[in-house]
Amino acid sequence: CGIVGYIGKNQAAPIVLDGLSKLEYRGYDSAGMAIFDGSKINITKSVGRLKVLQELTHDGATMPGNLGIGHTRWATHGAPSDVNSHPHFNEKGTIAVVHNGIIENYLPLKKKLESKGYHFISETDTEVLAHMLDYYYKGDPMGAIVKVLHRVEGSYALGILFSDFPGEMFAVRKDSPLIVGQSGEGCFIASDVPAILKYTRTVTYIDNQEIVRLTPEGLHIYNVDEEELEKESVTIDWDA
Ligand code: GLU
Repeated sequence: CGIVGYIGKNQAAPIVLDGLSKLEYRGYDSAGMAIFDGSKINITKSVGRLKVLQELTHDGATMPGNLGIGHTRWATHGAPSDVNSHPHFNEKGTIAVVHNGIIENYLPLKKKLESKGYHFISETDTEVLAHMLDYYYKGDPMGAIVKVLHRVEGSYALGILFSDFPGEMFAVRKDSPLIVGQSGEGCFIASDVPAILKYTRTVTYIDNQEIVRLTPEGLHIYNVDEEELEKESVTIDWDA
């Protein structure tokens, strides 16, 4: 299972698909991606090998846009199926999330969200994240992400899109791996270095409870108090 994301000058879908193919060794049962086309977030996802997603999207050609996130799933909660595949999204389709890990306390969170009128369509633990982000989002993505982090227990590496923010991608992790990278062409997130090595060798390892905000020009890393951190990037000198 793995996550990959890209924001920059180039088409995102082919980069996300290529990155996911480099994470195949991690094992998975489903694959999907969310690409922002400039006005809305489009999602394609399916149970099966990455080849299915490549065929459904004509190697990404049917999903234009310069900002996107992708996922290969190793099901922990909810059987492998199209609806349980990631990305997951809020009811309006304005927030999309990919997740590696397990939200241990998703059941009480799901009950609470249902009592507030949220409808769930999948059996995953992950879907609570999409609806919780919706619940706490009042125009400030970082603020909503921090509120969610304070309430979830478990492990996660997340890639998140908000359609209100066409020039930004968000990522965060706790106890699941996450790296970010940067080049003159844009910025990347991934579960592991080989996914982005073709595009950049400038990589930063994200630590637990760090939040990353990526733009086409660069990336910023924050702690849960939303204070910006100065982190060293490393230059990868090995080949995948
Ligand atoms: N727990 C999530 C699910 O079952 C994510 C699994 C993963 O890491 O791929 O959908």
